[in-house]
Amino acid sequence: MAEAGRPQVRQFVVGPLETNCYVVIDGDKALVVDPGANGADIAAALSGLDVELIVATHGHGDHVGGVAALKQATGAPFAISAADAGRAQSAADNSSHDFGYDANAPAPDRLLAEGDVVSVGGLGFSVIDCPGHTPGGIALYGNGVVFVGDTLFAGSAGRTDLDGGDAGALRRTLMRLKGSIAPDTLVLPGHGEATTMSAELAGNPYLR
Ligand SMILES: [Zn+2]
Repeated sequence: MAEAGRPQVRQFVVGPLETNCYVVIDGDKALVVDPGANGADIAAALSGLDVELIVATHGHGDHVGGVAALKQATGAPFAISAADAGRAQSAADNSSHDFGYDANAPAPDRLLAEGDVVSVGGLGFSVIDCPGHTPGGIALYGNGVVFVGDTLFAGSAGRTDLDGGDAGALRRTLMRLKGSIAPDTLVLPGHGEATTMSAELAGNPYLR
């Protein structure tokens, strides 16, 4: 997935809902986004790298189910927004129980909010608050890439009928992303194919 000017990003597709877990690598440092399951396997695949931080874009179980094992294996701190931290820790509140598996993340070590910068090696990514799919959804934007979790997908957008969903808030978030993400940005969603902001601006009905 590495292209000129963009960071090295590895992708793991994990869990029953085929969640995209992304790993940004800079030198021997790694940032893991959304380890939804298979935390021990992800840690093993990253052996030799120093995992500096584990970030969840939101608290749904399919995005946090691997955090505990990954944290245990790597010692890396876990970060999420304040608004989704409780949900991440409770399978009854993060839709995982309803989907037939229980995902309970550990308590966060760091709380993320709009304007914070998440860094890995020499790279920084800005936190953008993205309420709608859940109240505490965030995106990470920088270096020609945006990690959008379940806010925006190739040709579609996040559901708002799961725990914490709000269609009006999602609409406002999408309009905000439309105005703030550069068109040549690689969009890496929580499920499905990667896309670019220009492709979504041209063809995604949720951005009209
Ligand atoms: Zn979700």
